[in-house]
Amino acid sequence: MGGKAIIDGIAFEKTSLRGALEKAEELIGRGEPSYVVTPNPEILYQALKDETLHSALREADLVLPDSVGCRIASKILGDPIPYKVAGVEFGEALLKLAAEKGYTVWLLGAKPGVAEKAGENMKAKYPGLKLLGTSDGYFKDAEPVLEKIRQSGAQILFVCLGAPKQESFIYDHKHETGAILHLALGGSLDVYAGTVERAPRWMIQSGLEWLYRLIKEPKRLGRMTRIPLYLLHCVKVRLNRRNRGK
Ligand code: UDP
Repeated sequence: MGGKAIIDGIAFEKTSLRGALEKAEELIGRGEPSYVVTPNPEILYQALKDETLHSALREADLVLPDSVGCRIASKILGDPIPYKVAGVEFGEALLKLAAEKGYTVWLLGAKPGVAEKAGENMKAKYPGLKLLGTSDGYFKDAEPVLEKIRQSGAQILFVCLGAPKQESFIYDHKHETGAILHLALGGSLDVYAGTVERAPRWMIQSGLEWLYRLIKEPKRLGRMTRIPLYLLHCVKVRLNRRNRGK
């Protein structure tokens, strides 16, 4: 295994969770500002129309397929991704690794109080975790937030502002945070804090997590229409490729 599957110019890592963690450690070891994104078809569809988001995804140091939808898109395009690596699981595994290796962490995002609660829960679960601070994701001016993170000297920065805000934030500011590894992880802090529950294991394993989220938050239906639209786009890309080859 290994290598990358290219979807719309975005290079998805063909890897397991363990492989993704190894890559993340490699990036931390390099010491240069780097970032990880975890797109799903909703985000990929947005990126078709949002040049900045597309650039942020294309230039990421590590791109992980957050959902089964990415696997379906990759199959349609003829270069299948073997596993999905859910951002929320990758983030937690990285916190565990950080606790073991002594990497320092800052959690940014979600509603006021959520990042603190997420941090408390993760510190209880992974003793020794060096959490240097948290801030909520509803700020007007980024500078004071950046200043606090810089002052802390945190090495790993979780950026959980939802797409495309989190990708733009990292793209624009990765040289101003002082952090080495930046992670765009959507609603992960809500899960770590316990304010949002993940789907039961059988639904995750059957590729039905999206359905669970829809049942819990029916207002997601509007944005979820992007999933079939994105898969339709992939089918068109594949058919155009075939027609060009004739
Ligand atoms: N969020 C934020 N600032 C904003 C908008 C959203 O911190 O200006 C947070 C929001 O509170 C939630 C996360 O970003 O914690 C986005 O969660 P969502 O479920 O939309 O992301 P997904 O996991 O689907 O990518």
